[in-house]
Amino acid sequence: MLDDFISDQAIAYKIFKNSIIKNKLSHAYLINTNGYHKGFDFAKAFAKYLLCPNNETGSHECSVCHLIDNNSYSEFKVIEADGLWIKKEQTDELQEMFSMKSLSGRKVYIINGVENLNISASNSILKFLEEPEEGIVAILITDNIYKVLGTIVSRCQVINLNNVQVKSDDMLLNVGNQLYNDSDKINEFVNDSESINKIGHVIDFIEYLYSNKLDTLVYINKYWNDFFKGKDDYLFAFNIMIMFYSDVINYKMGKDIILSEFKSNIEKFSELDYNIINKILNLILEVREDLYSNVNLNLLMDKFIIKMEVI
Ligand SMILES: [Zn+2]
Repeated sequence: MLDDFISDQAIAYKIFKNSIIKNKLSHAYLINTNGYHKGFDFAKAFAKYLLCPNNETGSHECSVCHLIDNNSYSEFKVIEADGLWIKKEQTDELQEMFSMKSLSGRKVYIINGVENLNISASNSILKFLEEPEEGIVAILITDNIYKVLGTIVSRCQVINLNNVQVKSDDMLLNVGNQLYNDSDKINEFVNDSESINKIGHVIDFIEYLYSNKLDTLVYINKYWNDFFKGKDDYLFAFNIMIMFYSDVINYKMGKDIILSEFKSNIEKFSELDYNIINKILNLILEVREDLYSNVNLNLLMDKFIIKMEVI
């Protein structure tokens, strides 16, 4: 049940619990597990909490809970890859099932491994997310938010679980593994002597922006334009920013961090409140999403800096 996750996932637990208590459910959540091995169990516990008529007692021995456990409840559906990909037939089946009127007023679906949606399945889920129907809650799960389509990320409330499993002492290898899913690209990144400097430039920018806010607009050449020139550079830099702030959360929770060679920088930011860190992370994700449309990069940075001012 949901309460089993109070200590492992204190922040995410609080966000879910508050959204229910304050009646502010999002129509779509994207759970970024960061490798936490019980990410799916957590999502399912949340789904049960939303659907079980006895959720206040927490016993979960009712018929609805049993049906959910057997994947045979008509208001609940789990989708995961059938082979390598999640296919359009699966998302079609979901939409058909969810087009019927709900008995309880609420339906929940989970997409486990949302980065595995094939192109046509992604398009159909995007439409489903764009026109949320009253009472339908989507819970999408990924181990790696960097691999999820930006257009999907931007339509969800992102919930970061804390558990980074850092497997190697080689920071660049850990960063490469997070950013790329192809071994040639990872090797290229690890062996490029400029990679570490590029990460450093992003972190310098983060620090300058955080302390100087709008002033950064004046020094944008020195802190940004000299190093980041095209869309690929921008995407890289925004992904490093996401990694940095996720590491700040990990650090606060006493977990391993990915950007281990920048520990002292991360430590400085660990005084920030979780709430602020989440706001910054969501802003970075929002701006990163704009990179996928044909946007003017200078204006994008201006917008980012200005929005950081009000956080
Ligand atoms: Zn129940």
